[in-house]
Amino acid sequence: NDRVLQVVNLKKYYTVNDGWFSSGQRVKAVDDVSFSIYKGETVGLVGESGCGKSTTGRTVLQLSQPTSGKIIFEGTDISKLKGQELRQIRRRIQMIFQDPYASLDPHKTIQQILTEPLHVHHLYDKKKRIEKVRKMLKTIGLTDTYLTRYPNELSGGQRQRIAIARAVILHPLLIVADEPVSALDVSVQAQVINLLMHLQHEFQLTYLFISHDLNVVRHITDRIIVMYLGKMVEAAPTEELFRDPKHPYTRALLSAIPIRNPDEHTDRIVLNGEVPSPVYPPSGCPFHERCPNAMDICSKAAPRQVNLSEKHKTICHLYS
Ligand code: SF4
Ligand code: MG
Repeated sequence: NDRVLQVVNLKKYYTVNDGWFSSGQRVKAVDDVSFSIYKGETVGLVGESGCGKSTTGRTVLQLSQPTSGKIIFEGTDISKLKGQELRQIRRRIQMIFQDPYASLDPHKTIQQILTEPLHVHHLYDKKKRIEKVRKMLKTIGLTDTYLTRYPNELSGGQRQRIAIARAVILHPLLIVADEPVSALDVSVQAQVINLLMHLQHEFQLTYLFISHDLNVVRHITDRIIVMYLGKMVEAAPTEELFRDPKHPYTRALLSAIPIRNPDEHTDRIVLNGEVPSPVYPPSGCPFHERCPNAMDICSKAAPRQVNLSEKHKTICHLYS
C-alpha cells in the first residue's frame, strides 16, 4: 500500500462573532472533505481564497485540530497524537509557506537555519550536519558562500529555496506547500517549481500543493482537488480536469485563466456575484446562487459525490 495520506470526512468549524448577533456564528471552513495521496504524487488543492484549502493544509500539518474526521498518515490517525509521537510525525511531514520572509529567522545565518531542524530532531553529529547542509545548499543551486549570510541578504527566490531546503533536509515523506510561489516574480516562479520537481525526484517526495493559480498547479500536479466554500466539488487527474472539467465551478475557474493553447479555448464563464459568506452558506448546493446550470433541486438538496471514473469525481446534481 503506497498511500501516504488519507483525509477522511475532515471538518473544521470555527465560531465567529459577526457583530450582529451576541451568540457566535459557526463557520464551516472545511466541511466533510475526503481524499488520499499516494507516494510520489503531487496533489493540488485549488480554489479561491476562503475556500478552505489552507485550513485543510493546516490540519494535515497538525497546526490546527480538526473538529472531526481523520488524518491518516502512514496508517496512523495523527490527529489523535501528542507529545513525542507528534514530534516524530512532524519530521515526516514538512511545510513550505508562501512567505519566505516571515518563515526564516532574520537573526540567523543560512547555516544556522538549515542546521536547526537536524539539531531539533537529534540527527547526525555536528560535523555531519554541516556536511548535510553544504550538500543541500548545492542541491538547491546555492554556493557555500551563502552559509554565513542572513535571509535579508538574499532575493525572494533564494529565500524560498532556503525554506524548501530546510523542509527537505529532514527527508520527509510528505510536504505541504501552501502557495509556495505566489509571492515571487513570475520569472522566478518557474525556477522554484522546477526545483520542487527536481527534489521530488531526488528525494522521493510527495506533495500536497495548495494554490489559487491554476497555471502553476497544472505544471506541477498529477491530480487536482477543487474546493468551494469548504467543500470539495471536483477531483480528477490534472490533464483530465483541464480537458474535461465537469463541475460548473471548475469550468468557470478554468475559463478564467489566460489560455496558452488555442485548441483549448472556451468562452469565459462569468459568475454572478461573489463567493457567499461562509457564515451563511446557501442551502442545497453551496454554488447554486452563482451557477449558470442551476436547476430547481440545487437550492433544495445538497448534491452527493458522483464517481465519473475511478479517479474523476464531482459533487453536482447534473451528474446524479
Ligand atoms: Fe450548479 Fe446545481 Fe451542480 Fe450546484 S448542483 S454546481 S447549482 S448544477
Ligand atoms: Mg490561503
